[in-house]
Amino acid sequence: MIGRIREWHDQRRIRQRGLEALWQRQVPQMAWLQRYGEAQRARIGAMAQRFMVRKHMLGGAGFAVTEGMRMHVAALAVVPVLELGLHWYRDWNAVVLYEGAFIPGHDWQDETGVVHVSDAPLTGEAWMQGPVILSWEDVLASDEPDNAGYNVVIHEMAHKLDMCGPGGANGAPPLHRGMDPKRWHDVMQTAWNELERAEASGTPLPLDPYGLEDAGEFFAVLSECFFDAPGHLASHWPDVYAQLALFYRQDPLQAWGRGEAQAQV
Ligand SMILES: [Zn+2]
Repeated sequence: MIGRIREWHDQRRIRQRGLEALWQRQVPQMAWLQRYGEAQRARIGAMAQRFMVRKHMLGGAGFAVTEGMRMHVAALAVVPVLELGLHWYRDWNAVVLYEGAFIPGHDWQDETGVVHVSDAPLTGEAWMQGPVILSWEDVLASDEPDNAGYNVVIHEMAHKLDMCGPGGANGAPPLHRGMDPKRWHDVMQTAWNELERAEASGTPLPLDPYGLEDAGEFFAVLSECFFDAPGHLASHWPDVYAQLALFYRQDPLQAWGRGEAQAQV
């Protein structure tokens, strides 16, 4: 019942804001979206409109955010939960967009208890039960063809999904019934070790080495690759691809018609 009332409210607000017409105008401007078939695109559009009425999407540092920008971010944000459902994002309700990379205005404490003041610019950030913060410049950069495998929105949303499990963003999101946590761990560990060896030996890397920051970053960077360069991931690490396909309940290679198998990361 509550679900039906919520759906009714969502649809009313979607109509009031004219989001279906906005979606139709935005579709041609999102190059990445053209990889999907028409039915899949329509599902992304419907969920993106619901995302827009459920989340506050605002500008940081005076950045003027338009409805078009909101739609662009919403469309990317719903891709990871297309088969899981928007309720995976229920613990938070704001997206803050900065014009470019931003300097986080907060301190953080490392494992040894030392408090650091962050001063390096970030392209995105996801707070536990808090907002997702994104650089609009980098959201747009994710759409450039030579940036296959880079997608700041997917990256931060993967952190959010990871945070649904115990222990925060630690590379262990809650797995579905029928998935084997040991298998998940072993497959991820093997890939991690390979990436570490490749980096140490200077051989070409199958993945952005930023993934080696920690297990949470590894999952987020793998997720970017899964959705943004699935052919690349499937050919290098088919077992990782298979585990992510089970978790996300999607097969982007299939959805894209296997057209980007040669993409480089
Ligand atoms: Zn990250």
